[in-house]
Amino acid sequence: MISKKAAQVQPAATLAMSGLAKDMQADGIDVINLGVGESDFQTPKHIAEAAISAIKLNKTSFYTPTSGVKELKQAIVNQVAQRYHADIALNNVTVTTGAKLSLYVLMQTLLNPNDIVVAAAPLWVSYIEQIKLAGGIVKTIQPKNEALKLTVADLEKVAEQVKLIIVNSPTNPTGQVYTRDELIAITDWAKQHDTYIILDEIYGQLVYNGTTFTSGLQIQPLENSRMIIVDGVSKAYAMTGWRIGWTLASSEIIAVMNKLLDHMTSNPTAVAQYAAIAALSGDQSSVETMRLAFEKRLNTTFDLLNTVPGLQVVSKPQGAFYLFPKVSDAMLLATGVADTSDLSMKILEEAHVAMPSGEGFGMPGYLRMGYAKDQVVLNEAVRRLTVFFQQYI
Ligand code: PMP
Repeated sequence: MISKKAAQVQPAATLAMSGLAKDMQADGIDVINLGVGESDFQTPKHIAEAAISAIKLNKTSFYTPTSGVKELKQAIVNQVAQRYHADIALNNVTVTTGAKLSLYVLMQTLLNPNDIVVAAAPLWVSYIEQIKLAGGIVKTIQPKNEALKLTVADLEKVAEQVKLIIVNSPTNPTGQVYTRDELIAITDWAKQHDTYIILDEIYGQLVYNGTTFTSGLQIQPLENSRMIIVDGVSKAYAMTGWRIGWTLASSEIIAVMNKLLDHMTSNPTAVAQYAAIAALSGDQSSVETMRLAFEKRLNTTFDLLNTVPGLQVVSKPQGAFYLFPKVSDAMLLATGVADTSDLSMKILEEAHVAMPSGEGFGMPGYLRMGYAKDQVVLNEAVRRLTVFFQQYI
């Protein structure tokens, strides 16, 4: 028998949907896969070349320090200084195999059995399972505002002592960005209540239409604080496959994480670390080129998607690369499905568009469309969705 702990874990709805789409594609079916959060751009050439050069120079036959090579940690410290005018030290940084592992290790580092973790729904699929694996209890809050952002008023309503708050800005799946004032209010609340707070800033460089991104690093210092930042190269640098992310936190928290990581992965892949150094220290123009392309796609696709019968994106996303349309109750009824999870399967099978449903994000009644695809592909996806939903009006 496998462990009870493992048995309770749900598969990642996003990866499961994307996997089904890939299987159908392998069978020769023309499926549009909008399921997973990966950029359609190629990793910029200078980044790939840095990795090739690391291989040629044999920077591969040894373990690096668990927390990453010094040059990478320095590149992270420098970028943080440049982008946020924040002064952090090398021992405030640990590099992990993707931001996902940073988050996993943080849950293991911070949580005792039955500790309460609060986050707004919808929330990224893996937080829930990672918290459960660490024995914690997730309290998801359904915010009352249209943007579905967590507020201090929501936090005040939680009766139990909160151990950890997770805020993801820009948010996957809604694309909403927390303003400076909203972040200050939440981080102040956390401080007053001795609560840890993780700010997942993985989409921080991908904000659109004049939106300003505020990092926690612009609000509070890390040392002697319970604020923790998670970031990585996956999204802004088209580097999801390289698996490099990091945690920025007090040296105390980082030291404990490193102890855990010693027994988990040792270091993240050396070659990928050298690629990440080139990403952070090299020419940043490709980030801006990709950001502008995402912005254009967002603006076009947001308008198009809102013309599909039964679908509505209530608050226009300001960042990340997802749209999270609500399916009207009338449409859900008309399609004859039990819930949006069934609806997303029906859309995959009949319209050949792969989009995970809101259930995996703690928010039934919605679908998630990743728009990191060429506009021609997005237009075709919207056309297919329109044809699909028109049958039911
Ligand atoms: N946080 C959020 C909100 C994400 O959407 C993702 C990727 N889908 C991650 C973290 C993990 O990113 P990485 O590729 O660095 O593991």
